[in-house]
Amino acid sequence: MASIGFVGLGNMGGPMARNLLKAGHQVKAFDLSAAATDAAGKAGAGVAASAGEAAKGVEAVVSMLPAGQHVRQVYTGKDGVLDSAGAGTLLIDCSTIDVDSARAVAAAAKAKGLAMLDAPVSGGTVGAEAATLTFMVGGEEAAFARAEPILKCMGKTVVHAGAAGAGQAAKICNNMILGISMIAVGEAFVLAEKLGLDKQKLFDIAAKSSGQCWSLTTYCPVPGPVPTSPANRDYRPGFTADMMVKDLRLAQQAAQGAGLGTPLGAAAASLYGLFCAAGNGALDFSGIIKMIRGKG
Ligand code: NAD
Repeated sequence: MASIGFVGLGNMGGPMARNLLKAGHQVKAFDLSAAATDAAGKAGAGVAASAGEAAKGVEAVVSMLPAGQHVRQVYTGKDGVLDSAGAGTLLIDCSTIDVDSARAVAAAAKAKGLAMLDAPVSGGTVGAEAATLTFMVGGEEAAFARAEPILKCMGKTVVHAGAAGAGQAAKICNNMILGISMIAVGEAFVLAEKLGLDKQKLFDIAAKSSGQCWSLTTYCPVPGPVPTSPANRDYRPGFTADMMVKDLRLAQQAAQGAGLGTPLGAAAASLYGLFCAAGNGALDFSGIIKMIRGKG
Protein backbone atom coordinates (compact mmCIF):
# COMPACT_ATOMS: atom_id res chain seq x y z
CA MET A 1 0.00 0.00 0.00
CA ALA A 2 1.21 3.49 -0.82
CA SER A 3 1.53 6.77 1.03
CA ILE A 4 -0.41 9.40 -0.93
CA GLY A 5 -0.69 13.18 -0.58
CA PHE A 6 -4.17 14.43 -1.49
CA VAL A 7 -4.85 18.10 -2.31
CA GLY A 8 -8.41 19.40 -2.86
CA LEU A 9 -11.01 17.65 -0.71
CA GLY A 10 -14.26 19.08 -2.08
CA ASN A 11 -17.35 17.32 -3.41
CA MET A 12 -15.21 14.98 -5.52
CA GLY A 13 -11.84 14.93 -3.73
CA GLY A 14 -13.35 14.24 -0.28
CA PRO A 15 -14.93 10.90 -1.20
CA MET A 16 -12.01 9.98 -3.51
CA ALA A 17 -9.57 10.40 -0.61
CA ARG A 18 -11.86 8.29 1.60
CA ASN A 19 -11.82 5.51 -1.01
CA LEU A 20 -8.01 5.52 -0.98
CA LEU A 21 -8.15 5.12 2.81
CA LYS A 22 -10.71 2.31 2.51
CA ALA A 23 -8.36 0.51 0.12
CA GLY A 24 -5.64 0.62 2.80
CA HIS A 25 -3.48 3.49 1.51
CA GLN A 26 -2.05 6.11 3.86
CA VAL A 27 -3.35 9.57 2.92
CA LYS A 28 -1.90 12.96 3.87
CA ALA A 29 -4.62 15.51 3.09
CA PHE A 30 -4.73 19.25 2.46
CA ASP A 31 -7.46 21.67 1.41
CA LEU A 32 -7.62 25.47 1.77
CA SER A 33 -10.88 24.84 3.63
CA ALA A 34 -10.06 23.78 7.20
CA ALA A 35 -13.45 22.06 7.44
CA ALA A 36 -12.66 19.86 4.40
CA THR A 37 -9.18 18.99 5.75
CA ASP A 38 -10.65 18.17 9.20
CA ALA A 39 -13.28 15.91 7.63
CA ALA A 40 -10.51 13.96 5.87
CA GLY A 41 -8.66 13.76 9.20
CA LYS A 42 -11.76 12.31 10.88
CA ALA A 43 -11.98 9.72 8.10
CA GLY A 44 -8.46 8.55 8.96
CA ALA A 45 -6.15 10.74 6.87
CA GLY A 46 -3.11 12.54 8.19
CA VAL A 47 -3.57 16.30 8.00
CA ALA A 48 -1.08 18.58 6.21
CA ALA A 49 -0.72 22.35 6.68
CA SER A 50 -0.05 23.08 2.99
CA ALA A 51 -0.02 21.43 -0.44
CA GLY A 52 3.77 21.29 -0.23
CA GLU A 53 3.62 19.47 3.11
CA ALA A 54 1.10 16.96 1.72
CA ALA A 55 3.61 16.21 -1.07
CA LYS A 56 6.61 15.62 1.24
CA GLY A 57 7.77 12.04 1.78
CA VAL A 58 4.92 10.37 -0.15
CA GLU A 59 4.99 8.01 -3.12
CA ALA A 60 2.23 9.80 -5.02
CA VAL A 61 0.24 13.04 -4.97
CA VAL A 62 -3.38 13.20 -6.16
CA SER A 63 -5.12 16.56 -6.65
CA MET A 64 -8.77 17.43 -7.31
CA LEU A 65 -9.06 21.20 -7.74
CA PRO A 66 -11.55 23.60 -9.36
CA ALA A 67 -9.64 24.99 -12.39
CA GLY A 68 -6.31 25.47 -14.19
CA GLN A 69 -5.19 28.44 -12.08
CA HIS A 70 -5.55 26.40 -8.87
CA VAL A 71 -3.60 23.49 -10.36
CA ARG A 72 -0.79 25.81 -11.51
CA GLN A 73 -0.64 27.41 -8.06
CA VAL A 74 -0.68 24.13 -6.10
CA TYR A 75 2.04 22.53 -8.24
CA THR A 76 4.29 25.36 -9.45
CA GLY A 77 3.67 28.02 -6.74
CA LYS A 78 6.27 28.79 -4.05
CA ASP A 79 6.55 25.86 -1.60
CA GLY A 80 4.09 23.99 -3.80
CA VAL A 81 4.08 20.34 -4.78
CA LEU A 82 7.01 20.58 -7.25
CA ASP A 83 9.21 22.31 -4.66
CA SER A 84 8.43 19.70 -2.02
CA ALA A 85 7.97 16.31 -3.66
CA GLY A 86 10.91 13.93 -3.38
CA ALA A 87 12.53 12.13 -6.33
CA GLY A 88 10.28 9.42 -7.77
CA THR A 89 7.02 10.89 -6.46
CA LEU A 90 4.24 10.30 -8.99
CA LEU A 91 1.93 13.30 -9.57
CA ILE A 92 -1.69 12.75 -10.66
CA ASP A 93 -4.03 15.70 -11.25
CA CYS A 94 -7.67 14.60 -11.54
CA SER A 95 -9.18 18.11 -11.90
CA THR A 96 -10.94 19.12 -15.13
CA ILE A 97 -8.77 21.95 -16.47
CA ASP A 98 -7.65 23.53 -19.75
CA VAL A 99 -5.29 21.46 -21.88
CA ASP A 100 -2.61 24.21 -21.89
CA SER A 101 -2.38 24.31 -18.08
CA ALA A 102 -2.25 20.51 -17.92
CA ARG A 103 0.65 20.44 -20.40
CA ALA A 104 2.48 23.37 -18.78
CA VAL A 105 2.37 21.85 -15.29
CA ALA A 106 3.40 18.40 -16.62
CA ALA A 107 6.36 20.05 -18.40
CA ALA A 108 7.37 21.89 -15.21
CA ALA A 109 7.20 18.58 -13.32
CA LYS A 110 9.31 16.86 -15.98
CA ALA A 111 11.91 19.64 -15.74
CA LYS A 112 12.27 18.65 -12.06
CA GLY A 113 12.52 14.97 -12.96
CA LEU A 114 8.98 14.15 -11.77
CA ALA A 115 6.38 12.19 -13.75
CA MET A 116 2.95 13.79 -13.95
CA LEU A 117 -0.39 12.60 -15.33
CA ASP A 118 -3.59 14.48 -16.12
CA ALA A 119 -6.43 12.16 -15.11
CA PRO A 120 -9.82 13.92 -15.26
CA VAL A 121 -12.88 11.89 -14.41
CA SER A 122 -16.46 11.33 -15.40
CA GLY A 123 -19.06 9.84 -13.09
CA GLY A 124 -19.76 12.81 -10.81
CA THR A 125 -20.15 12.80 -7.04
CA VAL A 126 -22.09 9.52 -7.12
CA GLY A 127 -19.18 7.84 -8.90
CA ALA A 128 -16.70 9.49 -6.51
CA GLU A 129 -18.59 8.07 -3.48
CA ALA A 130 -19.05 4.61 -4.99
CA ALA A 131 -15.50 4.40 -6.46
CA THR A 132 -16.95 3.89 -9.93
CA LEU A 133 -15.37 6.88 -11.70
CA THR A 134 -13.93 6.69 -15.20
CA PHE A 135 -10.41 8.14 -15.45
CA MET A 136 -9.07 9.47 -18.78
CA VAL A 137 -5.33 9.67 -18.40
CA GLY A 138 -2.66 11.62 -20.27
CA GLY A 139 1.07 11.13 -19.74
CA GLU A 140 3.89 8.62 -20.16
CA GLU A 141 3.17 4.88 -20.28
CA ALA A 142 5.43 4.05 -17.31
CA ALA A 143 3.74 6.66 -15.12
CA PHE A 144 0.33 5.36 -16.20
CA ALA A 145 1.30 1.83 -15.16
CA ARG A 146 2.26 3.10 -11.68
CA ALA A 147 -0.93 5.18 -11.36
CA GLU A 148 -3.40 2.52 -12.50
CA PRO A 149 -3.64 0.57 -9.20
CA ILE A 150 -4.13 3.84 -7.27
CA LEU A 151 -6.82 5.10 -9.66
CA LYS A 152 -8.58 1.70 -9.56
CA CYS A 153 -9.25 2.31 -5.83
CA MET A 154 -11.34 5.35 -6.82
CA GLY A 155 -12.83 4.21 -10.12
CA LYS A 156 -13.93 1.32 -12.26
CA THR A 157 -12.53 2.27 -15.66
CA VAL A 158 -9.04 3.69 -16.20
CA VAL A 159 -8.05 4.52 -19.80
CA HIS A 160 -4.67 5.70 -21.06
CA ALA A 161 -5.62 8.36 -23.63
CA GLY A 162 -2.13 9.37 -24.79
CA ALA A 163 0.59 11.90 -23.94
CA ALA A 164 0.33 14.80 -21.45
CA GLY A 165 -2.94 16.71 -21.91
CA ALA A 166 -4.66 13.81 -23.71
CA GLY A 167 -6.84 13.05 -20.67
CA GLN A 168 -8.16 16.62 -20.62
CA ALA A 169 -8.62 16.55 -24.40
CA ALA A 170 -10.67 13.35 -24.13
CA LYS A 171 -12.83 14.81 -21.37
CA ILE A 172 -13.72 18.04 -23.20
CA CYS A 173 -14.26 16.32 -26.57
CA ASN A 174 -16.62 13.81 -24.95
CA ASN A 175 -18.51 16.51 -23.07
CA MET A 176 -18.80 18.65 -26.21
CA ILE A 177 -20.55 15.70 -27.90
CA LEU A 178 -22.77 15.34 -24.82
CA GLY A 179 -23.69 19.05 -24.58
CA ILE A 180 -24.56 19.28 -28.27
CA SER A 181 -26.48 15.99 -28.35
CA MET A 182 -28.56 16.88 -25.28
CA ILE A 183 -29.69 20.11 -26.97
CA ALA A 184 -30.49 18.18 -30.17
CA VAL A 185 -32.60 15.63 -28.26
CA GLY A 186 -34.33 18.41 -26.30
CA GLU A 187 -35.21 20.29 -29.49
CA ALA A 188 -36.58 17.10 -31.05
CA PHE A 189 -38.87 16.36 -28.08
CA VAL A 190 -40.18 19.94 -27.95
CA LEU A 191 -40.82 19.89 -31.72
CA ALA A 192 -42.63 16.54 -31.30
CA GLU A 193 -44.84 18.13 -28.58
CA LYS A 194 -45.73 20.97 -30.95
CA LEU A 195 -46.53 18.52 -33.74
CA GLY A 196 -48.72 16.37 -31.51
CA LEU A 197 -46.37 13.38 -31.58
CA ASP A 198 -46.45 11.35 -28.34
CA LYS A 199 -43.10 11.48 -26.47
CA GLN A 200 -43.04 7.72 -25.85
CA LYS A 201 -43.62 7.08 -29.56
CA LEU A 202 -40.76 9.44 -30.49
CA PHE A 203 -38.55 7.68 -27.94
CA ASP A 204 -39.44 4.17 -29.17
CA ILE A 205 -38.79 5.13 -32.80
CA ALA A 206 -35.65 7.28 -32.36
CA ALA A 207 -34.10 4.77 -29.92
CA LYS A 208 -34.17 2.21 -32.75
CA SER A 209 -33.33 4.67 -35.55
CA SER A 210 -30.42 6.87 -36.57
CA GLY A 211 -31.24 9.49 -33.90
CA GLN A 212 -30.19 7.02 -31.19
CA CYS A 213 -27.64 8.41 -28.70
CA TRP A 214 -26.81 8.36 -24.96
CA SER A 215 -28.67 11.65 -24.32
CA LEU A 216 -31.81 9.94 -25.65
CA THR A 217 -31.64 6.37 -24.38
CA THR A 218 -29.87 6.77 -21.02
CA TYR A 219 -30.58 10.35 -20.04
CA CYS A 220 -33.84 11.22 -21.83
CA PRO A 221 -34.69 14.88 -21.01
CA VAL A 222 -38.47 14.29 -20.75
CA PRO A 223 -40.03 12.32 -17.87
CA GLY A 224 -41.31 8.82 -18.63
CA PRO A 225 -39.32 6.94 -21.27
CA VAL A 226 -36.19 6.45 -19.09
CA PRO A 227 -37.35 6.31 -15.44
CA THR A 228 -33.83 6.84 -14.02
CA SER A 229 -33.14 10.07 -15.94
CA PRO A 230 -33.07 13.41 -14.00
CA ALA A 231 -36.19 14.58 -15.91
CA ASN A 232 -38.17 12.28 -13.58
CA ARG A 233 -36.99 14.15 -10.47
CA ASP A 234 -37.39 17.78 -11.56
CA TYR A 235 -33.87 17.81 -13.07
CA ARG A 236 -32.04 17.31 -9.79
CA PRO A 237 -28.44 16.46 -10.82
CA GLY A 238 -26.75 14.22 -12.01
CA PHE A 239 -24.35 16.48 -13.78
CA THR A 240 -25.06 20.16 -13.24
CA ALA A 241 -25.54 22.75 -15.98
CA ASP A 242 -22.73 24.76 -14.29
CA MET A 243 -20.32 21.83 -14.84
CA MET A 244 -21.48 21.45 -18.44
CA VAL A 245 -20.91 25.14 -19.21
CA LYS A 246 -17.44 24.94 -17.65
CA ASP A 247 -16.49 21.98 -19.86
CA LEU A 248 -18.03 23.51 -23.02
CA ARG A 249 -16.04 26.70 -22.43
CA LEU A 250 -12.85 24.68 -21.97
CA ALA A 251 -13.64 22.98 -25.30
CA GLN A 252 -14.08 26.39 -26.97
CA GLN A 253 -10.82 27.64 -25.47
CA ALA A 254 -9.02 24.55 -26.80
CA ALA A 255 -10.67 24.86 -30.24
CA GLN A 256 -9.64 28.52 -30.51
CA GLY A 257 -6.08 27.64 -29.47
CA ALA A 258 -6.02 24.97 -32.19
CA GLY A 259 -7.44 27.39 -34.82
CA LEU A 260 -10.52 25.20 -35.26
CA GLY A 261 -14.11 26.41 -35.63
CA THR A 262 -16.64 24.21 -33.78
CA PRO A 263 -19.89 26.08 -34.48
CA LEU A 264 -22.19 23.61 -32.72
CA GLY A 265 -19.84 23.45 -29.73
CA ALA A 266 -19.89 27.27 -29.64
CA ALA A 267 -23.69 27.36 -29.85
CA ALA A 268 -23.97 24.79 -27.04
CA ALA A 269 -21.58 26.80 -24.84
CA SER A 270 -23.61 29.94 -25.39
CA LEU A 271 -27.01 28.22 -24.80
CA TYR A 272 -25.79 26.60 -21.57
CA GLY A 273 -24.31 29.97 -20.57
CA LEU A 274 -27.75 31.59 -20.97
CA PHE A 275 -29.42 28.73 -19.09
CA CYS A 276 -27.03 29.13 -16.14
CA ALA A 277 -27.24 32.94 -16.19
CA ALA A 278 -31.02 32.56 -15.79
CA GLY A 279 -30.40 30.85 -12.43
CA ASN A 280 -30.46 27.19 -13.54
CA GLY A 281 -26.80 26.32 -12.98
CA ALA A 282 -27.51 23.89 -10.14
CA LEU A 283 -30.05 21.92 -12.22
CA ASP A 284 -29.07 18.86 -14.18
CA PHE A 285 -27.80 19.83 -17.65
CA SER A 286 -30.68 17.93 -19.29
CA GLY A 287 -32.95 20.67 -17.83
CA ILE A 288 -31.91 22.79 -20.85
CA ILE A 289 -35.11 21.43 -22.43
CA LYS A 290 -37.03 23.88 -20.20
CA MET A 291 -35.29 26.77 -21.93
CA ILE A 292 -35.94 25.22 -25.35
CA ARG A 293 -39.64 25.11 -24.40
CA GLY A 294 -39.38 28.77 -23.41
CA LYS A 295 -39.87 28.00 -19.70
CA GLY A 296 -36.24 28.17 -18.45
P1 NAD B 1 -15.27 21.61 -5.16
O1 NAD B 1 -15.33 23.08 -5.34
O2 NAD B 1 -16.31 20.92 -4.35
O3 NAD B 1 -13.83 21.20 -4.54
C1 NAD B 1 -12.62 21.82 -4.87
C2 NAD B 1 -11.79 21.91 -3.58
O4 NAD B 1 -10.50 22.44 -3.89
C3 NAD B 1 -12.40 22.84 -2.53
O5 NAD B 1 -12.58 22.13 -1.32
C4 NAD B 1 -11.39 23.97 -2.40
O6 NAD B 1 -11.29 24.50 -1.08
C5 NAD B 1 -10.11 23.26 -2.81
N1 NAD B 1 -9.05 24.17 -3.24
C6 NAD B 1 -9.11 25.21 -4.11
N2 NAD B 1 -7.91 25.79 -4.26
C7 NAD B 1 -7.05 25.09 -3.46
C8 NAD B 1 -5.67 25.20 -3.16
N3 NAD B 1 -4.92 26.17 -3.73
N4 NAD B 1 -5.14 24.32 -2.30
C9 NAD B 1 -5.88 23.36 -1.72
N5 NAD B 1 -7.20 23.20 -1.96
C10 NAD B 1 -7.78 24.06 -2.82
O7 NAD B 1 -15.22 21.00 -6.64
P2 NAD B 1 -15.53 19.49 -7.09
O8 NAD B 1 -16.97 19.36 -7.46
O9 NAD B 1 -14.92 18.56 -6.10
O10 NAD B 1 -14.74 19.43 -8.48
C11 NAD B 1 -13.32 19.29 -8.51
C12 NAD B 1 -12.90 19.08 -9.96
O11 NAD B 1 -13.54 17.91 -10.47
C13 NAD B 1 -13.28 20.22 -10.89
O12 NAD B 1 -12.22 20.45 -11.80
C14 NAD B 1 -14.52 19.70 -11.61
O13 NAD B 1 -14.69 20.26 -12.90
C15 NAD B 1 -14.21 18.21 -11.69
N6 NAD B 1 -15.40 17.35 -11.80
C16 NAD B 1 -16.44 17.53 -10.96
C17 NAD B 1 -17.57 16.71 -11.08
C18 NAD B 1 -18.75 16.88 -10.15
O14 NAD B 1 -19.80 16.29 -10.43
N7 NAD B 1 -18.64 17.64 -9.07
C19 NAD B 1 -17.61 15.72 -12.08
C20 NAD B 1 -16.50 15.53 -12.91
C21 NAD B 1 -15.39 16.37 -12.76
